[in-house]
Amino acid sequence: MNPISTLSYQGRPVRLRGSMLNLADMWRAAGRPENRRPADWLALEETARLRAYADTHWTALDEPVTANAGLAGIWHLDTDGLVAAALGHSGGIWANWQLALSYARTLSPAFHLWANTVVRAAMERPGDLATADPDPLLAHLAVRFRELHRRLDTLERHAADLMVLALSGQELLFGGRREFSERSRALLARVVAAEPYGGQCPCCGRERVLAEGGRLLPGAEFDHFYHRGLNRPEYGWPVCAPCHGELTYGGHLARFARMPEFRAFQARVLEQRRRARQCPGDAM
Ligand SMILES: [Zn+2]
Repeated sequence: MNPISTLSYQGRPVRLRGSMLNLADMWRAAGRPENRRPADWLALEETARLRAYADTHWTALDEPVTANAGLAGIWHLDTDGLVAAALGHSGGIWANWQLALSYARTLSPAFHLWANTVVRAAMERPGDLATADPDPLLAHLAVRFRELHRRLDTLERHAADLMVLALSGQELLFGGRREFSERSRALLARVVAAEPYGGQCPCCGRERVLAEGGRLLPGAEFDHFYHRGLNRPEYGWPVCAPCHGELTYGGHLARFARMPEFRAFQARVLEQRRRARQCPGDAM
């Protein structure tokens, strides 16, 4: 089925579908001249003669609308295939462009001149109208969104790969394990004791990690998030035994998946340290 394109006459739309123009659109665009409605024009003897002539002298170039497949049920074609009445949102009387130009002549000289130029150009270069259709635009957007999603997937893979590289680099740079200092442990424990964690594991939120007195429960660990050689407070968090297992043996992807939780926890650590600097007495 031919998509509907829209031409414009002084800002008023004139729909075009394949080789057919919407006559009511033309009538409205030309300023609704009295006694020149599409039906008036169709009733003229001159119009009937033109249709009869076109019907017998049709050339391959001026293909009648009957050649359009898929229009059954939507178009009620007149016998000669030059004029069609359509149902639905594309409704109204449509006429082959050559007849439509003849109709344009009855509407006004200015409109006729416009139609002669613009309609003819549209019929000769149908490709130029493609961008005027909403459907190709949507199709174009769908393609761009698919590309965008592919790129995001790629970026995520790259980020995960970068983490492996960073871990390998750290291995070379930092070497062996360094435990968190007493001071760092106390800071991390204070953060996990406070809201919103209330002593629960900041990684899964399911298990308790803190016992009374701010000590870690048996099984819970201060996890080195980036590398076992990086022991500053911003590189660790206290996690429950199941989380520690997952993070230690799950590979870099398991760690990568917990990045949001770790960042949220570290935001609290930062806040806690800032407060400790402002009122040193409170933090201890
Ligand atoms: Zn946990």
